[in-house]
Amino acid sequence: MEPKPRFVVDIFSGHRESVSRIAMSRLVLTAELLTQLRTELLEADHETCAILFGRAVVKGGRLVRVVVRELQRIAEADYQQRSGIAAQLNPNIVAAVAQRARKSGESIVFVHSHPFALNEFSSIDDAGEKKLSEFLVSRTPGVIHANLLVTPDATIARVLGSGEPLEVVGVGSRLLWGGETDSSVGDPAFDRQVRVFGESGQQRLRKLRVGIVGLGGTGSIVLEQLAHLGVGKLLLIDPDVVERTNLNRLVGASESDISKPKVEASASLAKRINPKVCVETIFSSVLLASVAEQLVDTDFIFLLHRFPWKPGRIESIRLPIFSARY
Ligand SMILES: [Zn+2]
Repeated sequence: MEPKPRFVVDIFSGHRESVSRIAMSRLVLTAELLTQLRTELLEADHETCAILFGRAVVKGGRLVRVVVRELQRIAEADYQQRSGIAAQLNPNIVAAVAQRARKSGESIVFVHSHPFALNEFSSIDDAGEKKLSEFLVSRTPGVIHANLLVTPDATIARVLGSGEPLEVVGVGSRLLWGGETDSSVGDPAFDRQVRVFGESGQQRLRKLRVGIVGLGGTGSIVLEQLAHLGVGKLLLIDPDVVERTNLNRLVGASESDISKPKVEASASLAKRINPKVCVETIFSSVLLASVAEQLVDTDFIFLLHRFPWKPGRIESIRLPIFSARY
């Protein structure tokens, strides 16, 4: 049995905006898939459907995100009804995807388009979702599913049956936000970057949760840069303590940090750079499955460890991975 990881610090700013952002669960997929989905679903004049399979990540009893892994297209024969203002799936296809989810525990994301300008779920959508939800509660007890709407102007999602909104995020070489970014006044500390990224770009950075695995020389530099960039949430993982021999390459570390966990010294550095940053640290090895699992709730991962990486360890938890290795 694996030892339990030690969670050393759990710092998070009491800033109200951060709290409201933490409260919003996400539907995460790769930017490429999100773009592909929007393009394919919006090229028809008729409402178009698709199915996504993914995994719901629940932390502390609360849904934090649904991570999408796979797209299933809908054939013409799989529609019971399809027009410019409605699309209904054949019960057979619904039964088939429910069967898969029942076996695998995967979350189903039902996607449909509004080729017309209605940027919200319609009353027809509400009624259809209610029936679908009742069916899935009996077929896939305890599994969370979602409903995703694609329109020419927006990408909107909610938890199937509960109406709880989900923030749609596409991650990859680009960052796509399905919903609108908030209009809060920017932090003057990031004024120079706002001129480069734009205010919405800076807001996206604030909403990101980035995992850094390995807080040695390279990791501490990456951390420093991410904190300066204004990334809002960081998850730091490293099993080592600061040693005197590390001081020449650990950014921000000093004599007083010797014997402290590297993640703790790094968290202090991030907080000094950006007091609003939310930092969670795990003083343990990512080679433990229970620790690697924590990375599911991140948008980007920097793998900056020295030890041999076992391929498949993180991949097995079915994450979209964007790693920087050295
Ligand atoms: Zn609709």
